[in-house]
Amino acid sequence: MKKQEEKISSKENSPDKQNKHLVKVNIRCRKCFMVEGYLPDENTCKHCGSIIYRIDIY
Ligand SMILES: [Zn+2]
Repeated sequence: MKKQEEKISSKENSPDKQNKHLVKVNIRCRKCFMVEGYLPDENTCKHCGSIIYRIDIY
């Protein structure tokens, strides 16, 4: 009897595709107190332009 080889496609199903998903966090500005969703590379308020802080997550 001949054994049939099974095709293993390991490169097609990569499970860590969702790792690079950008996450918005709601941060409240210390100056104008507006709450807005900010991406990790944003660090200024969208309303008044002052610096926002990651520890101010709303
Ligand atoms: Zn502001």
